[in-house]
Amino acid sequence: MLLLRAVLGNICSRVSRVPLGVPISRFSAAAIPAPNPKADVHFNQIFINNEWQDAVSKKTFPTVNPSTGEVICQVAEGDKVDVDRAVKAAQEAFKLGSPWRRMDASHRGVLLNRLADLIQRDRAYLATLETLDNGKPYAVSYAVDLDLVIKCLRYYAGWADKYHGKNIPIDGDYFSYTRHEPVGVCGQIIPWNFPLLMLAWKFGPALATGNVIVMKVAEQTPLTALYIASLVKEAGFPPGVVNIVPGLGPTAGAAIAAHMDVDKVAFTGSTEVGRFIQQAAGKSNLKKVTLELGGKSPNIILSDSDLDWAVEQSHFALFFNQGQCCCAGSRTYVQEDIYKEFVERSVQRAKTRVVGDPFDFKTEQGPQVDEAQFKKIMGYIKTGRQEGAKLLCGGSAAADRGYFIQPTVFGDVTDNMTIAREEIFGPVMQILKFKSIEEVIERANNSMYGLAASVFTKDLDKANYVSQALRAGTVWINCYDVLGAQAPFGGYKASGTGREGGEYALQAYTEVKTVTMKVPQKNS
Ligand code: NAD
Ligand code: MG
Repeated sequence: MLLLRAVLGNICSRVSRVPLGVPISRFSAAAIPAPNPKADVHFNQIFINNEWQDAVSKKTFPTVNPSTGEVICQVAEGDKVDVDRAVKAAQEAFKLGSPWRRMDASHRGVLLNRLADLIQRDRAYLATLETLDNGKPYAVSYAVDLDLVIKCLRYYAGWADKYHGKNIPIDGDYFSYTRHEPVGVCGQIIPWNFPLLMLAWKFGPALATGNVIVMKVAEQTPLTALYIASLVKEAGFPPGVVNIVPGLGPTAGAAIAAHMDVDKVAFTGSTEVGRFIQQAAGKSNLKKVTLELGGKSPNIILSDSDLDWAVEQSHFALFFNQGQCCCAGSRTYVQEDIYKEFVERSVQRAKTRVVGDPFDFKTEQGPQVDEAQFKKIMGYIKTGRQEGAKLLCGGSAAADRGYFIQPTVFGDVTDNMTIAREEIFGPVMQILKFKSIEEVIERANNSMYGLAASVFTKDLDKANYVSQALRAGTVWINCYDVLGAQAPFGGYKASGTGREGGEYALQAYTEVKTVTMKVPQKNS
């Protein structure tokens, strides 16, 4: 414990308050090395068959540094034709008798561990690139995102030769057993809020179980995934096992969802696009679908909670990652007798949040990912004011260039307001008042979403009662955003289908085959 405190102290002295809400076990003992924001970008093409290529159309799109609005570089813009090529390469790699299909399961684990080793080797560079392309504070990229990425890949490396079938006592003279076989070509479409972590969540279970991948990365943040592609090759994965096609949603993304030779699609992003994905799967080959979508997660503060802790955790629950978390605690329900004090302290905390250059170790909050998100969030702030919520702090841009927004807190929010119903995906906190536990449970569950929820209380009975009543894929008690590769994550209702993380994720990447064999009863 002392050692962990020392580690946390070390990181906090450099990182200011950024990761305080994150459990200390997440941090590596190594001090965070200085970033080099002028680092070169090495890869900006499409990765198929372990080789780099331009888009067939030769088109490119710019990726932007959200701190400045300046273009970092052009990136190959893959579309349907490039997706077709990637799928062909993946199919070839998955052919019966191919090196990948014949590889020992344990060796798949070795390769995943090697990939984790290479990411660890280049951790500072990857964290720098992530911050450049996405805007999240470098200290967080390094200490939180990269830490979780490496742990996720190692966790699934361990599963490679352990996720096996059963011997089934079927009636009659038969020997019956199940095999857990890979699904095949997995299309994976990921968002920009955790570019590397979402890649790891999708690579880990898919590769551990022997699948092949065609991934489309978000157009806002393609750079780190392309660098990882180079590490995939260096680690020794056979050509065609991992293919990465940067490109736009309606072209490259839609081509994956509708592809007749893609066996499964895993998508993380907006609920709106999730609907398209599921429809496209249904209209094409009925590929398997897992979706991790939006949320409007209730964070419930009972009057007996530890107020200091509840205020800090609620702040973290909403503002972490510039508010760009699918599971952000974006409806903060506070019991009436502590409401006034909670609001005052939350406003105070938001006012001290350090917004600025994400490469500065003091920075807690960088820019929003792009201009579109910036405008969307500013639009929600305007709507919040128009609909009668009380703007208590923030509400404006936080710099004259880049996509920085002041930490913003709304009080007197009611359930019917747009800002209490829709996902804002920005640094805008909504505080709502409630009287009784029964009332808050009903209000909390009255949402199309069901991704996450939390409750703060010192009363164990109340904690158990509320956590069981909440309709959400994850419920945190007296903490927030505690995620680990070992635990499943996903949504009830319109927040998604299926689970990522833990053993549960392996189900989505395997088909179960029953093999039944006649057993002779006499040796003739
Ligand atoms: P999005 O859903 O459009 O993008 C996510 C991914 O889907 C990207 O790779 C994108 O290129 C791809 N995509 C877009 N249209 C597609 C299509 N028709 N077919 C296939 N793939 C497609 O999200 P966005 O526009 O970047 O952000 C909009 C909102 O989505 C945000 O404000 C936020 O509310 C939500 N969002 C949620 C998450 C999450 O983690 N659940 C992540 C990002 C955004
Ligand atoms: Mg970018």
